[in-house]
Amino acid sequence: MEQRFEGENNLMDNNLRLGIMGGTFDPIHIGHLVTAEEAKYQFSLDKILFVPSAHPPHKREDAYSLATDRCNMIELSIEGNPNFSVSRIEMEREGPSYTIETLREIHRMYGKDTELFFITGADAILEIMTWKNPTELFSESRFIAATRPGYSLTKLEAALPKFNSKGRLAMNFVHMMEIPALAISSTQIRARVREGKPFRYLVIDAVWRYIREKGLYLEEG
Ligand code: ATP
Ligand code: MG
Repeated sequence: MEQRFEGENNLMDNNLRLGIMGGTFDPIHIGHLVTAEEAKYQFSLDKILFVPSAHPPHKREDAYSLATDRCNMIELSIEGNPNFSVSRIEMEREGPSYTIETLREIHRMYGKDTELFFITGADAILEIMTWKNPTELFSESRFIAATRPGYSLTKLEAALPKFNSKGRLAMNFVHMMEIPALAISSTQIRARVREGKPFRYLVIDAVWRYIREKGLYLEEG
């Protein structure tokens, strides 16, 4: 019997369970990969889609590496894992990407019966919930908030009930997930590259090589 999360009524459904990992992935690191793998396990997901953002609405546009480099690094990282894939939908769309639009588009592509699970670090979940109407988000997807080091679950759980509306209680759509703590961020990796500090093993080996070959992150972004 595969592990399912508490309280879910999932008798007899064979719908595709699709995890979505959004982010800038500049660069993708092992924290992202461990999170995706753990979500797949804990929530019995069939597949994980990595969706790199083009122009995150809340970040400066010129602070990002080329979309193609970020995509290439994702591809290098997931090579050999048939359950992981990358989607360019946010990159192909004009203008800023909003999670709600991405979720709707994925639903259109995979069909309404596909169950979506948007995976984020616990830091990002509160941000998402405050971006746009969370009720709309909950009609498209459930959310998995990973315990990124430094963000307490208790704090998050205490904050969530505020975001209920139209009878959709946030707690029914947002699930907490404990993951092995990996205090890694892309920001930290970019700084390490710039400062000539080691960053091998924080990213997949092929990504480590790619960053050096392409000379990424040598200048302040
Ligand atoms: P940056 O420092 O540029 O913000 P990041 O490391 O936070 O980069 P993002 O691309 O912003 O990476 O993150 C994508 C998603 O992965 C977000 O939901 C984020 O919370 C989550 N995430 C990032 N790093 C970790 C980590 N070490 N453990 C768990 N989740 C993480
Ligand atoms: Mg981040």
